Amino acid sequence: MSHYEVGHWINGAVSRGSGERRQDIFNPATGAVQGQLLLGSAADLDAAVAGATQAAKGWGQTPPLARARVLFKFLTLLQERRELLAEALVREHGKTLPDALGEVARGIEVVEFATAMPQLLKGEYTEQIARGMDAWSMRQPLGVVAGITPFNFPAMVPMWMYPIAIGCGNAFILKPSERDPSASLLMARWLKEAGLPDGVFSVIQGDKDIVDAILAHPGIAAVSFVGSTPVAEHIYRIGTAHGKRVQALGGAKNHMVVMPDADLDGAVDALMGAAYGSAGERCMAISVAVAVGDVGHKLVAALAPKVGALKIGEGHQQGAEMGPLITRASQQRVERLIGEGVAAGAKAVVDGRGLRVPGHEDGFFVGGTLLDGVGAEMSCYSEEIFGPVLCVVRVPDLAAAIALIEANEYANGVAIFTRDGHVAREFVHHIQVGMVGVNVPLPVPMAFNSFGGWKRSLFGDHHAYGPEAVRFYTKHKAVMQRWPDSTPKGPQFAFPQNT
Ligand code: NAD
Repeated sequence: MSHYEVGHWINGAVSRGSGERRQDIFNPATGAVQGQLLLGSAADLDAAVAGATQAAKGWGQTPPLARARVLFKFLTLLQERRELLAEALVREHGKTLPDALGEVARGIEVVEFATAMPQLLKGEYTEQIARGMDAWSMRQPLGVVAGITPFNFPAMVPMWMYPIAIGCGNAFILKPSERDPSASLLMARWLKEAGLPDGVFSVIQGDKDIVDAILAHPGIAAVSFVGSTPVAEHIYRIGTAHGKRVQALGGAKNHMVVMPDADLDGAVDALMGAAYGSAGERCMAISVAVAVGDVGHKLVAALAPKVGALKIGEGHQQGAEMGPLITRASQQRVERLIGEGVAAGAKAVVDGRGLRVPGHEDGFFVGGTLLDGVGAEMSCYSEEIFGPVLCVVRVPDLAAAIALIEANEYANGVAIFTRDGHVAREFVHHIQVGMVGVNVPLPVPMAFNSFGGWKRSLFGDHHAYGPEAVRFYTKHKAVMQRWPDSTPKGPQFAFPQNT
């Protein structure tokens, strides 16, 4: 594909903006530059916010059913064109085509959920809260809201946000990851084609500079963020200091506890997909297997040949199970963390450093890696690796497994593999983690539930998508109404009571 340029989407059209700063877009499988991204300026953001503010007025007054009809049309377009969107992900993110199609499918489910907006926005009504007085509650849109998203799900994570924000009657400004920005413009075009008024959905490309401009912009009422923990914390701190509503989902270190009674074959298959799928670049990836009792040696013996035999290649390659990492810097960081683990005493049962994929020698690949004998003090355990590396930590019993998990700063997802229902129930009840799987390695909630971690995996009060997002993107209003009879009664000075 020849070099291309990716700009912004402002007032229903592609915009080059001020175009003063640019950044290369790489093909991670070849390591080559394939395009250029125009980075937005404060003036570009002002233009997007002005258009969004104007559009939000009319859109917020549009009946929820009419808004839902636009989302229905968009849903049809997405279903017809899911392969086009998936192709953009393969080209810029590097994930395999089947994995990209899975990402698009999970995003589509949120659009399906958002089409139920007339039902979701219904308030509550109580007749006769006092004599002759009725009360009700309703949820109203915030106005202009923004979303800042990570590289690892360039279609799905924006779709966690904008279908619900728009369905609730807001205008939405997306700041996608600068690494894989093309999906954002495809979705913008299709929303317009579905009948969305100009300005209701905008895209502003950029890096830290534009993020800081979003956080300070007085015309933006709320910010949804998904990305790494240090940035999530920054977004939450600065955004709330500017009076915005903020939900900021951060990084993760997800553990899977394997009990001695677990179905070992099932646990091994689950670990293979959850640790190495998408090259480990998922916030719900399992990066630590916690082997309880004597299961460790059997687990490592079963995993090792499978990890060594992973099929790694460009995303279109038939049978490829994982692709490259997102950048050269990412590749180097993952290899450094493997090296530090080995230097600290972990055993590299399978070492993926230095992998060269034939025909793609300059791609950002790291081979599947299995580290055994990992300790909590090692950097390969304490840092989020975000690569195809599974650390095995051996512990004597379930109590030690739980203590290990609870000492970790992250609490996004966790899983337990066991055949004992009582053990599973106790684990689910006590574990201090936001999303829990029992014999399910990636407990990613469906679109009609909500997604989010605890501790330093989420800053703010609301989880993403599902009913929590409807609450996040709306303000609650309580109304009391009386139509008095015309007989005058005079003023009442005591605090009103029901009689
Ligand atoms: P990132 O934090 O580097 O970037 C996320 C977004 O923030 C991007 O749009 C980027 O442009 C912007 N950004 C980067 N540095 C910034 C800074 N210093 N100031 C302001 N903005 C900045 O994350 P990433 O590398 O794109 O994505 C991977 C991370 O996202 C991992 O930590 C992963 O766990 C996390 N993630 C979390 C979830 C979740 O639901 N909790 C989901 C997906 C990814």
